[in-house]
Amino acid sequence: MIPKSNISLRFVVVGGGIGGLSVAIGLVLAGHEVIVLEKAQQLSEVGAGIQIPPNSTRILEVLGCKTQILEKALVPKAYHFFNHKGDNLINIELDPYCARKYGCKSLHIHRGDFHKCLVERARELRITILVNSGIVEIDLDHNIAITHDGHKYHGDVIIGADGLNSNVRSSIFGKHSLATNSGDQAYRSLISIPEMAKHPELDFIHKIPCVNFFWGPQGHVVTYPLKGGNSCNVVVMGPDNLPPDARVVAADKHEVLQFLKTWDSRLQLLLSLATSTFKWRLQYIEELDSWSHPTQNVTLLGDACHATLPYLAQGAAQAIEDAAALAYLFGKIKHKSEIHFILEMYEYIRKPRTTRIVNSSKDCQQIYHLQDGEKQKLRDLECALDPPQERCPARWADPEFQEYLFGYNIFEECKKQWLLATTMKEKL
Ligand SMILES: Cc1cc2nc3c(=O)[nH]c(=O)nc-3n(C[C@H](O)[C@H](O)[C@H](O)COP(=O)(O)OP(=O)(O)OC[C@H]3O[C@@H](n4cnc5c(N)ncnc54)[C@H](O)[C@@H]3O)c2cc1C
Repeated sequence: MIPKSNISLRFVVVGGGIGGLSVAIGLVLAGHEVIVLEKAQQLSEVGAGIQIPPNSTRILEVLGCKTQILEKALVPKAYHFFNHKGDNLINIELDPYCARKYGCKSLHIHRGDFHKCLVERARELRITILVNSGIVEIDLDHNIAITHDGHKYHGDVIIGADGLNSNVRSSIFGKHSLATNSGDQAYRSLISIPEMAKHPELDFIHKIPCVNFFWGPQGHVVTYPLKGGNSCNVVVMGPDNLPPDARVVAADKHEVLQFLKTWDSRLQLLLSLATSTFKWRLQYIEELDSWSHPTQNVTLLGDACHATLPYLAQGAAQAIEDAAALAYLFGKIKHKSEIHFILEMYEYIRKPRTTRIVNSSKDCQQIYHLQDGEKQKLRDLECALDPPQERCPARWADPEFQEYLFGYNIFEECKKQWLLATTMKEKL
């Protein structure tokens, strides 16, 4: 599904996270040469679990990572939604439903395992990945990425996959922070399943692989077990109380327990088993005017240009879709002079979708975190409608929105848009 170009360009990818590695793999499959520059001393992913929705598994298969990922992932049976008192609001089947309807499964996996699969695939394709290579600026006149210790890397195209506080973005658009605080933070813990198994009331959280959501005043909780039967991923969203300049700090579980004081007692029990918790400030980026430099061949991908709240579990999935779009479009290139046209197409295809997902994720904050009252009662009643309707508060149950999220095929979209654009060009 990724066309192979008959010319080979040199790409510099800044950032070896999920987005950076995915685009590196895709571009090599499209016939190009890629070097990945990563700031960290070693390649790894922080955090605990991550959901991989069907729109993303579809791409990972084309990138050649599906088998390795499936070995390390769990296939959740369903999403279960509860209010903070533990009343079940709605269930949405995922397996075997997603495979039947969308041709691809929904998965969840430990982030470290996911990242490792991408690193292994990149190494198999002989992609050079340099660690300890933080980029401080881009020389836009010469398309050169410059590291903190003065090393210079020239690329026909430079891709900034360097996350929320992207230096590549600052080089293109100026050094102002674009990260917007959402007012929420996320406590993330891995909780021992053998410990949970001592409490039968927690069986529903780990016995059958499912993603559970609990919605309550000012926050929500997400749980899902990880493969291997040892740990359960637990994330508690609540009001942000991190120090002003911090993004991640160690957290005290008593603070989490205090926040959940009036919630379902099973959640209190679950969190009392946590041995270590970190909390992340949740930030996003408002839609940028542009993702690429107006004249030079430098562009952005993933959180660097559309960081989102994780409330639809689509952040990494969108970075992977960006990667697939760049791989497809650069697989079509016939001459270097087309680079800027391709970057414009990339943005044209990707920006409306990522903007809708960032905005819809923000809307979820209002839906999930309602105080008890009339609005909350209405929300819970809307969840109970059978069959679920458009605008169902559990957004994956809204038939139109589910199709929009899970049914999207980035390769088909690029193929369609490429055909349209090239036909129009020929007519002019
Ligand atoms: C609590 C939480 C839960 C989430 N759950 C999900 C989920 O279930 N599903 C999902 O799809 N998404 C989820 N996300 C979102 C997802 O984690 C991100 O959208 C995704 O990791 C973005 O990938 P990226 O490669 O664009 O950026 P990043 O993951 O931020 O990677 C950027 C990389 O660039 C490197 N870097 C930074 N600066 C430089 C520099 N100057 N030079 C070189 N390298 C640099 C970094 O070290 C890092 O390796 C969640 C996010 C949070 C906070």
